[in-house]
Amino acid sequence: MTAAIIDGKAFAATLRARVGELATAFEAKAGRKAGLAVVLVGEDPASQVYVRSKGKSTLEAGMNSFEHKLPADTSEADLLAVVEALNADVAVDGILVQLPLPKHIDEQKVIAAINPDKDVDGFHVTNAGRLAVGQPGFVPCTPLGCLMLLKDRLGDLSGLDAVVIGRSNIVGKPMAQLLISESCTVTVAHSRTKDLADVVRRADIVVAAVGRPEMVKGDWIKPGATVIDVGINRVPGAEAGKTRLVGDVDYASAAAVASAITPVPGGVGPMTIAVLLRNTLVAAYRNAGLVLAADAV
Ligand code: NAD
Repeated sequence: MTAAIIDGKAFAATLRARVGELATAFEAKAGRKAGLAVVLVGEDPASQVYVRSKGKSTLEAGMNSFEHKLPADTSEADLLAVVEALNADVAVDGILVQLPLPKHIDEQKVIAAINPDKDVDGFHVTNAGRLAVGQPGFVPCTPLGCLMLLKDRLGDLSGLDAVVIGRSNIVGKPMAQLLISESCTVTVAHSRTKDLADVVRRADIVVAAVGRPEMVKGDWIKPGATVIDVGINRVPGAEAGKTRLVGDVDYASAAAVASAITPVPGGVGPMTIAVLLRNTLVAAYRNAGLVLAADAV
């Protein structure tokens, strides 16, 4: 068997176009554009790339982008004051504080300061709680993007065995919650899991969010399973001095067994920003007291 490639790049482009249409409709109804504020503290090169790309995509979707770039030595109190100002700003529907923050700032304290109804990253404990009890809220972008790809591919997920490898607050845990909501039988594997290969072999759906290059091998995969590879790992390339990106799944061997698989790059990665825009749009409709149909986007 050679697995079908789940084209996250194409799916994300369609989602972004749909968000763009609804953002235009929002502007006509609300008399203002939806707005996303992104706060970056310091000069971490990867974070700078992410923030630039989020800003560009926000503008392309017809929304306002507010960038706040603060020096690395910004105090926690000053950052909290910026968050408070954004909470109070009616032009700002979504607030995203780019992680990681410098060591002298308590990340949890900063996330806790964001108004949960503007927390488009879905990291606030209120949104984690809403997800856990099945109330509407914001779900972290990467796992929500994974779920969209799975539902697009498989339709109804109920009764399927899913294994999520990784238990981070950003990917693994919310992914597991989402799959429970879809009536999957969910196993969460992590660094202390015994016989990981045997656990993965039971799964109809495998979501790998570990951060270890090509750890999940093809002979761990049940024939016909659907594989979602969240990992983004930079490894030495074929040419000296060059690097390339690989996932947490050994793509070639897994693709020989699975029925469908996300590539890296071009799978889950492009979904994250598309879902961020989607969450910002949903926040804008809610904050303006406008109705957006549950299945609109
Ligand atoms: P993390 O480091 O917070 O969590 C990794 C998890 O993997 C932990 O729960 C740990 O228990 C588990 N783990 C570690 N070693 C293991 C092992 N040997 N066996 C089984 N489990 C093991 O990472 P994260 O933030 O959840 O990210 C995971 C990966 O996903 C990274 O490669 C990251 O770059 C990528 N990522 C991608 C996107 C995207 O947009 N595509 C977004 C977020 C994260």
